[in-house]
Amino acid sequence: MCSVGLETVDHIVAGCSALAQTDYTDRHNQVASIIHWDVCRHFGVPVESRWYRHHPDRLVETDDITMMWDTTIPTARKIKANRPDICLRNRKTNTCLLIDISCPADGNIGKKHAEKLAKYSDLRVEISRMWHCRTLVVPVVLGALGTVHTGIARWLDIIPGHHNLQHLQKTVLLGSTRILRKVMSSF
Ligand SMILES: [Zn+2]
Repeated sequence: MCSVGLETVDHIVAGCSALAQTDYTDRHNQVASIIHWDVCRHFGVPVESRWYRHHPDRLVETDDITMMWDTTIPTARKIKANRPDICLRNRKTNTCLLIDISCPADGNIGKKHAEKLAKYSDLRVEISRMWHCRTLVVPVVLGALGTVHTGIARWLDIIPGHHNLQHLQKTVLLGSTRILRKVMSSF
């Protein structure tokens, strides 16, 4: 597709620049929107009864929380990585979670996890200063072929709501299957 990488399964499901903006983004957004849907339900925000009909609003607000979806966080200091997938501020617990989802090649899950923590560390510091709250970066990294880090459950537990790891993995796998099928059938 990109005429650059070797046509391995890993390349097709997670490394091809020709698929990144479209197919990988769709798969990523689907996983992210499931997490968003579960957080909404946890806080009693009215949502569709089925997760696959859920289209996250840019801004969700209740008495306790403000949740931003794929939105640039305005900061006084200029910060490069300022647009996490989900920014969840909880005024009741005085915390803020910067949740970022990624579906890399399975061999890269550890690296990607560390990358996400580093990427949003400036934003984390800035938000804790601006909003005077405990702020945490929460990477949710699911390998394109289903591999997850042993600590993934602990990270999911930090996010309010019930987050079913198997469901998230299945969603990634179905996305990857769709991508493989599309590439195979295009030749
Ligand atoms: Zn390629």
